[in-house]
Amino acid sequence: MATPPLPTPGLQRSWWLREALAAEGDPTPLPALTSSTSASVVIVGGGYTGLWSAWFLSERMDPEQIVILEQDICGGGPSGRNGGFVHGWWEDLPDLIRRYGAEGGLAMARAADEPVAGIGAWCTEHGVDAWHTPNGYLRVNAFPGQGRDWDDTVAAMAGAGVPDELRTMEPQEVQVICSSPAFRDGLWMRSAASIQPARLARGLRRVLLERGVRIHEATRVQELKRAGASVRALTHGGEVTADHAILGINAWASGWPGFRHRLVTWGSYMILTEPIPDRLEALGWTGGELLSDSRFTISYFRTTRDHRIAFGAGVGAAGFGGRIGQTFTHDARAVSRVHANFRHLLPMLDDVRIDDAWGGPIDVTGRRFPEIGTDGGGRMHFAHGFAGNGAGPARLAGRILASLVDGAEPELTALSFVGRRQPLVPPEPIRWIGARAVREALIRQDDALDAGRRPSWLVRFVARLPRLLGYQIGH
Ligand SMILES: Cc1cc2nc3c(=O)[nH]c(=O)nc-3n(C[C@H](O)[C@H](O)[C@H](O)COP(=O)(O)OP(=O)(O)OC[C@H]3O[C@@H](n4cnc5c(N)ncnc54)[C@H](O)[C@@H]3O)c2cc1C
Repeated sequence: MATPPLPTPGLQRSWWLREALAAEGDPTPLPALTSSTSASVVIVGGGYTGLWSAWFLSERMDPEQIVILEQDICGGGPSGRNGGFVHGWWEDLPDLIRRYGAEGGLAMARAADEPVAGIGAWCTEHGVDAWHTPNGYLRVNAFPGQGRDWDDTVAAMAGAGVPDELRTMEPQEVQVICSSPAFRDGLWMRSAASIQPARLARGLRRVLLERGVRIHEATRVQELKRAGASVRALTHGGEVTADHAILGINAWASGWPGFRHRLVTWGSYMILTEPIPDRLEALGWTGGELLSDSRFTISYFRTTRDHRIAFGAGVGAAGFGGRIGQTFTHDARAVSRVHANFRHLLPMLDDVRIDDAWGGPIDVTGRRFPEIGTDGGGRMHFAHGFAGNGAGPARLAGRILASLVDGAEPELTALSFVGRRQPLVPPEPIRWIGARAVREALIRQDDALDAGRRPSWLVRFVARLPRLLGYQIGH
């Protein structure tokens, strides 16, 4: 059977964002900043991090004293085009415990778990229909020649007193959730939810506007400057002088002074099928569960309310020099790779039409954990480096950032990772050459394991290089 042609990425906004904007009646962007003004807090970035920061602050201060500056529209970045997988860090608990001790690691994992239910409750309270479906997350082992890799993690969960958060699923249980010949056994995480990601970002925007928060879209901040006890956010059209600034610019931080040597960026791409209710029924995949495989360049897939599959994979190329350009949005080769993974994992859907394809940047620190802290004499607070898992954790980050401003939740700002800088990454062009080589090696290693082959020694060596150098970017 002929393979259906794939859509060209980068021609339009993601399907999620188009759907969310259409539901709002396709509003015009909010006016850009065209004069100078003052506020208590200026927030750079209208993604989840910036919007949640504003939300938590607006609970405790005059909302009109909060200004958000977004270069595009709110939700125009990854917050409006991600996979909509909301989960915390349970799978990372052993690593967190190793790094921050039993108590510190567990406190972080619990805090990162709050958004799963917290986002749903917030949406209900504020009439935001973000399709929140808290039906769990199944990671399958789809490598034919490779055993599962989670036994140590499951054992560590029991040791940490949280045995119910992750459990092994036998192959027959996996098949009940979604029956594919490619799936073997699985790891089940009960605390996870799917959302329509852009509807959440746009819902936050609406609620903040109703509260009186000032938002300027199409407003790019060129520089944050300290001026005595204030911070100035400079833009083409004017400036905002504030007591505090919050920087929630995610992958764009890789080009921002002070963070350039802290982040590696690469692309994640998604495809979206036509509506296929009967085919989903035949797979038994009607419960809205989130699924992924065990690749390092992970394939992640979920259903939508109108019975499509949204399928993504971290197979895009590495970025260069902090530029967030077409590498992250227009990469047709990455889309082909995503589609190949789709056909490998769900071979019975080979003939299904692909209606959309898009991509975006993800930013990774040397330890694969976000960097959240304060700079600029205690006036400039930042969070970035979610490593492709910010849909839930960005709510935690927003809460922490709000508390770094006003001190309202000291137990959150005391979490072990807050204020810790992540290791430096090499300067350009070494970073780009290294990241590109490692990325390609990881993809080839995953492809070989998918095909039941042993990866070549060279591929294995390059894929392990980051580990050998003390980073946690690759295996
Ligand atoms: C294809 C893809 C799939 C993903 N899937 C998932 C998933 O399923 N689950 C998950 O947890 N995570 C996923 N992620 C990651 C997730 O989307 C992010 O971690 C999360 O959206 C981060 O939110 P944020 O607000 O920090 O960043 P963003 O959403 O990137 O927002 C940052 C904003 O800052 C703005 N900005 C940047 N520079 C400036 C400036 N100088 N002035 C003004 N504004 C500026 C940008 O325009 C942008 O809107 C995915 C990412 C991608 C790309």
